[in-house]
Amino acid sequence: MSGEVSAELTWSIAIHGGAGSGPETWGAEKRDARSRGLAVALAAGRDVLAAGGTALDAVEAAVASLEDNGNFHAGRGATLTRDGHVELDAAIMDGAGAGCGGVACIGVTANPIRVARRVMNLTSHVLLVGPGADAFAKDQGFPLAVPSDFRSLVGRDAKQPAEQSSEFKFGTVGCVARDLRGNLAAATSTSGTSGKMSGRVGDSPIIGAGTFAANDYGAVSATGLGEEFIRRCVAYDLIAQVRYANRTLASAAEEMFRERLPESAGGVIAIDARGEISVTHNTPGMSWGAADRSGRWETGLTT
Ligand code: ASP
Repeated sequence: MSGEVSAELTWSIAIHGGAGSGPETWGAEKRDARSRGLAVALAAGRDVLAAGGTALDAVEAAVASLEDNGNFHAGRGATLTRDGHVELDAAIMDGAGAGCGGVACIGVTANPIRVARRVMNLTSHVLLVGPGADAFAKDQGFPLAVPSDFRSLVGRDAKQPAEQSSEFKFGTVGCVARDLRGNLAAATSTSGTSGKMSGRVGDSPIIGAGTFAANDYGAVSATGLGEEFIRRCVAYDLIAQVRYANRTLASAAEEMFRERLPESAGGVIAIDARGEISVTHNTPGMSWGAADRSGRWETGLTT
């Protein structure tokens, strides 16, 4: 399905900005800021697809927009490690040929998704971590982040213990998309769970756990308690159910969150080979958005 324009001539895209508490527990200002951020990111991805661009470019554009926003736990809105540092994880995957790239525990840039794309495009590796990921981003000429680039570091006394936001339990961001040629892609970016130990890596940069895409079956981006997603290879498990058990992605995801993951574990967005979108979570809230060629345009703070 890569290369030729699909007979259905359709594109679709879904984004998420993390799962956790219900929006009724947040202030109006936060709700508005999040909703606006979702709309801006969805538009960034939509514009790429509507202009005939690739799913890969669309997911990178949408996730970079959410990283830049500052109201999500990724990029500029990163939460801190237990000892007060920024350590970001991100991955991107091309459903057309299993190309993928990721970074983990990277701290020199607020746009790890763009570094992940370069890992995919320019190296023979899949995942670079810590100092190696930082060095690669520097070599690639990414502008180096300064403390004021990250909301949690602004005005912070480095000797104080890191303050952790409990407002949005999981604020990872992600995107899945299908382009006009029928190619799928997935991307996920996060600062990880609040108060994580330094060096901890979650599910987001792990292909098959928090991020996965395969043109014939679907694309998935997850948010939630990364350890649970890694243990169950959640993103690939959902795709495998489509591939081997003839399930729909939506029903596989629904069963995963109802039966197999602990309560309040998080959520996923998924898109199937035809561009059908599903948003599934077992937390009270999940920030999401969806758009397609037929004119669908929706964002929400829960489903
Ligand atoms: N899944 C992310 C992690 O465990 C956290 C999140 O979704 O907010 O790193």
